[in-house]
Amino acid sequence: MSIFDLSGRVAVVTGGNGGIGLGMAQALAAAGCNVSIWGRNPDKNKAAVQSLAGARGKAEAQVCDVTDPASVKAAMEATLKTFGRVDGCFANAGIGGGGRQAFIDRTEEQWRTMFATNLDGVFHAFQAAARHMTERAANGDPFGRLVATSSLASIFGTARNEHYAATKAAINALVRALAVELARNGVTANAILPGWIKSDMTAGIMGNDKFVANVMPRIPVRRFGEPEDFGGIAVYLMSKASSYHTADTFVIDGGYTAF
Ligand code: NDP
Repeated sequence: MSIFDLSGRVAVVTGGNGGIGLGMAQALAAAGCNVSIWGRNPDKNKAAVQSLAGARGKAEAQVCDVTDPASVKAAMEATLKTFGRVDGCFANAGIGGGGRQAFIDRTEEQWRTMFATNLDGVFHAFQAAARHMTERAANGDPFGRLVATSSLASIFGTARNEHYAATKAAINALVRALAVELARNGVTANAILPGWIKSDMTAGIMGNDKFVANVMPRIPVRRFGEPEDFGGIAVYLMSKASSYHTADTFVIDGGYTAF
């Protein structure tokens, strides 16, 4: 059996109904993992589940707003009802900066909205998953994978989008702390730092010729990333192959940071 075979495993992917999350969900299901997609939009959830039809793993979706702990709790209970267990939580749901803006003009509302989704959302999803994984470990079944989608913004000086950058840097610290705390339960915790990836979030900026002319020469592989580029890392992190790989931040950017 392949060390990347995920048969019998169950993963939650928040924000899995599009973009990078869907790219990860598709690869997980193809590797045999049962997948629960959590997103707010029921139509997008339905379409995402349909796109997984025929995969080795089964798929379902839960309408869930990760900013709301009660919504996350309900989604976790519903997922456990469907699949009986959750082995991995990909806390991927996030929002972008909504346009660059001077720090001195940043409003309380913009700051809090950003943190509510990008950081509180990870906290809610990870805590719900970790509680279940800890309980399972106590019952002799220690295995868990916590994976958050961070960003290059967490390590660059991302001017005029500092609220986004701050949430992502906090995610990097969160996974390191959880990796240390939860290792005894067989749980690993890692973050993925995407570079410039085509998705709804980046459709506006990638349609800007000036932006493309400026950024593309700085990407050694000479293309923007696709959601599918995140399938391999998702399967690796979900699999037994990554059992000794924890507390890490995986940069997936076509070489952008090396240039
Ligand atoms: P998309 O806009 O395509 O996807 C965002 C996803 O998050 C959607 O599925 C959306 O579904 C979901 N979502 C947003 N808010 C909530 C919420 N409150 N509750 C539940 N789900 C929510 O963007 P990407 O795929 O690009 O982004 C995915 C992650 O990757 C984000 O965390 C982003 O910060 C990160 N990232 C992206 C980069 C890029 O270049 N694209 C670069 C670096 C990091 P719905 O609206 O139905 O809720």
